[in-house]
Amino acid sequence: MREFRLIELIRERCAIAREDIALGIGDDAALLAPPSGQRLAVTSDTLVAGVHFPIDTHPRDIGWKALAVNLSDLAAMGAMPAWATLAITLPAAQRRWVEQFADGFAALAREHKLALVGGDTTQGPLAVSVTALGFAPCDTALLRSGARVGDAVYVTGTLGDAAAGLRCLNKADVDASHLLNAPAGMREVLIARLNRPQPRIAQGLVLRGVASACIDVSDGLVADLEHVCRASAVGAQIDADSLPASSSLLGLFDTPMRHELQLAGGDDYELCFTATPERAADALGDLARTGCAATRIGRIVAEPGVRVRDSDGRTLRLPQHGWEHFQ
Ligand code: ADP
Ligand code: MG
Repeated sequence: MREFRLIELIRERCAIAREDIALGIGDDAALLAPPSGQRLAVTSDTLVAGVHFPIDTHPRDIGWKALAVNLSDLAAMGAMPAWATLAITLPAAQRRWVEQFADGFAALAREHKLALVGGDTTQGPLAVSVTALGFAPCDTALLRSGARVGDAVYVTGTLGDAAAGLRCLNKADVDASHLLNAPAGMREVLIARLNRPQPRIAQGLVLRGVASACIDVSDGLVADLEHVCRASAVGAQIDADSLPASSSLLGLFDTPMRHELQLAGGDDYELCFTATPERAADALGDLARTGCAATRIGRIVAEPGVRVRDSDGRTLRLPQHGWEHFQ
């Protein structure tokens, strides 16, 4: 297959009409018309085979996840998605693979009325890089830098499922051998959380004007909350027993292992935000009505750093802090 045909395949499958596109795929650059009075939110994330997803991941899931991790960043800014570009590096021009990949990408794009407006197609080791663009009204974008002492810390959804899903897939993991015999339903829930993260766009919109700071949890709760604390010049105290867990996670892991997955696992793509308890009160109802409730997990304190306590008040030590490249 020629490069031109591959691009055509992707374009056809991801076609979504938007009035704010003056010129889409096909020329040297797209021409876009952002709404006046709004900020343009722009973010890029790359997925490399074998690093960000197991090499045998289904192409449909790779397409979904490549967009999802970028939309999660827009969600964390309280931005509304609009457009994306897609740079894809493929070992070979396999029609079926590209079709399935594009279908996964398009399925999520359609949910958010997001249009693919350009990209790049090259040959090499499998990697996918997406740039997502969205809008946020001036002054209501959610930043990392606004957390204040006395704010409460919240997280949407549940934590640790994706990292648990990765363990379910890892047949060489001796500590996780019992997972191979776990009920299929539980394993599937966790693996789906790994392969098909749901960007919390609706939740990010609810948090405009409510959250004092916000971040999406991609590298692990503690590592990402540390970014918020550093940007806000504060610290955080987290109660391990308040961390939200799915029934699958509760059913398959003992408490220490569950805490490790929830605190340091990564790939959750939930929103962690801070707010005064008064401001959060109304928003919590609105969040629950989006189908993804938020849970209070701790509070912002003056002393720098993130500390985690168990129900007996003991400080938990984490074996690792989160996923970081080049360490
Ligand atoms: P150029 O050589 O001028 O950079 P290309 O031949 O790479 O142009 O791309 C032609 C058109 O197809 C451009 O509009 C580009 O944005 C788009 N395009 C290329 N690859 C992709 C892709 N993987 N997904 C979406 N659009 C793409
Ligand atoms: Mg050109």
